[in-house]
Amino acid sequence: MTWETVIGLEIHTQLATRSKIFSGSATTYGAAPNTQASLIDLGYPGVLPVLNAEVVRMAIRFGLATGCTIAPRSIFARKNYFYPDLPKGYQISQYELPIVHGGHLDIELADGARKRIGITRAHLEEDAGKSLHEDYHGMTGVDLNRAGTPLIEIVSEPDMRSAEEAVAYMRRIHQLVRWLGISDGNMQEGSFRCDANVSIRRQGEPKLGTRTEIKNLNSFRFVDRAIRFEVERQIEVLEDGGRVVQETRLYDPDADATRPMRSKEEANDYRYFPDPDLLPVVIEDALIEQLRSTLPELPEARRARLGTQFGLSDYDAGVLTASREVADYFEAVVASVPSAPKLAANWVMGELGGALNRDGLEIGASRIDAAALGGLVARIEDETISGKIAKEVFEAMWAGEGSADAIIEAKGLRQITDTGALEAIVDEVIAANPSQADELRAGKDKLLGFFVGQVMKRTQGKANPGQVNALIRARLK
Ligand code: ADP
Ligand code: MG
Repeated sequence: MTWETVIGLEIHTQLATRSKIFSGSATTYGAAPNTQASLIDLGYPGVLPVLNAEVVRMAIRFGLATGCTIAPRSIFARKNYFYPDLPKGYQISQYELPIVHGGHLDIELADGARKRIGITRAHLEEDAGKSLHEDYHGMTGVDLNRAGTPLIEIVSEPDMRSAEEAVAYMRRIHQLVRWLGISDGNMQEGSFRCDANVSIRRQGEPKLGTRTEIKNLNSFRFVDRAIRFEVERQIEVLEDGGRVVQETRLYDPDADATRPMRSKEEANDYRYFPDPDLLPVVIEDALIEQLRSTLPELPEARRARLGTQFGLSDYDAGVLTASREVADYFEAVVASVPSAPKLAANWVMGELGGALNRDGLEIGASRIDAAALGGLVARIEDETISGKIAKEVFEAMWAGEGSADAIIEAKGLRQITDTGALEAIVDEVIAANPSQADELRAGKDKLLGFFVGQVMKRTQGKANPGQVNALIRARLK
């Protein structure tokens, strides 16, 4: 009998507000320790938290985009535990009444199959501070810049059945929060991380197995590796006649293994109770409707539209909607060459994507803007240059040498389409290679490519390949 894997994720996403969830301190990443912590973040007695309204709007936008119910009334609760980076002794979170609940998101698997993953709830909370171990010998530093940073924790149903599904789901959430502009999703800076709950059960068994929770995974690869390891470990435990212990574990990338957290790092009884310093969050329908009306076209819908409007494959449309910035860029390219959407798509995904990758740039920092790339695609479309020469022009544009037209003129790259001129070159090439010409006449079609290549060489790649092909055929066949 085989085992079935069951996974539920709790994803912590930092909301992209300029100030913290309950204080006016800045949330900018990378400031000197404790320069962005106010009395509220430091947990001084007698100070009062005030909820940042933008955080609420962001949570509602997330809820609307995932088909969640927006709670008309939700409550902040205190989650009590002791840790040096939590001077208050409690974290403000939401417990019984989260701000949104009961939604879903569809994932796509490698074979193209779609699957709906349930979202149990998403609640607002503040982040804790950070303990610094590296620069201190025998001591620990505490940086409270991060304390009070707004988070939305997105809790899924235990609907995923493999590491692949879990990663696909995490990627979709990542795409969505960035798409909505509610988070920068920066995983290196800790703005997007997750806890993976993993259990196994016999195929066909209706009851869930005992789960373990792997804390604080901050890359897609680690989520994948950690789950794979944990599933294998649990199978081994059960097949050896043992029992899985419900516990929190950590993934160690160096060992590529999970291990139990020291019990000190675990807090089992948080004694949640409503925070008496904060009023219930009451959300009126008018606000929900206002936010609904300003929601952008969502990734799935945009993907479908790009596919039908521009005749792109579902795969291409998926790549072009990886982020809103890519989709906007693509549509701006098409706006400047409306007749060649497929060609525009190939250039955005191919040459541009490659150059961005090579230089480690986001599309927003592209050295070639959308209108300029459109200008290049237009010259391929109207056959001023071939696709091959276009790559040379692209590199020059990337290096900042100007527009496509300026580079084509300056370097004399215009395609030779003058039939008379091309005929003369074809004749030269035939005269220079008499034996190959005879073989081609005799039916050795492979040699066609040789002759096209010779003409291209003589014209530095500027001959129109289709035309050259036709001319050689006319002469030798
Ligand atoms: P807690 O708040 O104690 O971590 P929850 O019951 O809220 O626990 O569940 C947290 C996450 O664990 C959810 O994503 C849920 O889908 C998942 N989960 C719950 N039970 C299991 C299980 N047996 N196997 C895998 N995942 C589970
Ligand atoms: Mg949990």
